[in-house]
Amino acid sequence: MRNHPWQGAMKPFRVLGNTWFVGLAQASTHIIDTGAGLIMLDSGYQESLYYVLYAMNECGLDIHDLKYIIHSHGHIDHAAATKALVELTGAETFMGEGDREIVNGTRPELNWADDYDMKFNGIFEPDHLLKDGDRITLGNVVIDCVATPGHTAGTFSFFWDIEEEGKIYRAGTMGGAGLNSMQSAYIRKHGLEKENWRGAFRKSIARCREEKVDVFIGNHTGHCQTVERCERLFAGDKYAFVDPEAWGKFLDQCERNINKLEMTDPL
Ligand SMILES: [Zn+2]
Repeated sequence: MRNHPWQGAMKPFRVLGNTWFVGLAQASTHIIDTGAGLIMLDSGYQESLYYVLYAMNECGLDIHDLKYIIHSHGHIDHAAATKALVELTGAETFMGEGDREIVNGTRPELNWADDYDMKFNGIFEPDHLLKDGDRITLGNVVIDCVATPGHTAGTFSFFWDIEEEGKIYRAGTMGGAGLNSMQSAYIRKHGLEKENWRGAFRKSIARCREEKVDVFIGNHTGHCQTVERCERLFAGDKYAFVDPEAWGKFLDQCERNINKLEMTDPL
């Protein structure tokens, strides 16, 4: 079914401290203001880039301050706007090594565009290929990069500190939790049988449990109830996204989902 990302336009907002939401209901885009330039987490669909630019402007974030674009993975809803943004700003791009071929045009069948009846027009060669344990530093922000394959081979999760009113909160993303790419039909169609993405996903869930996360930043709004929390935020609850239990609950749900998939759709 064709996806119309602009139909999911949301009012942009500051999540907490240095971190902003400037994305859409279908695909989250976040900005981290480092004091020495902006970092974008996931660029989103090319078709809705105009809305991300509008949202940044609404938040007082100057697109020309964009220095880095970091990707959770290479699917169309996270990386298709990157090329246009690079042409606009000269920002450097970061992608898990395992997803390089998805976005540089070598394996376009894995970018999920066909499945949404869309086109991934902005193929690009990432400037930096992430490895597990890499750290990305800009200004006063350090982002810890953790390989969490499963949803794709090169899915990465990111962790950084947010300061608010003198207190430090740990922010974290889970780079890919969708089981769409782990269904047996998809695996057979693309010849991914040997890659054991389901097993990798289980290990990634366990790895994520080692991280303490106070502010769970979903790369889809469903991960951390972005819509409900931002309503609370707009109603005056400044700490609506601070919820040290949300991370663990989400990982529990991921585990239930993969268990269910193994039962209902064995390989
Ligand atoms: Zn994806």
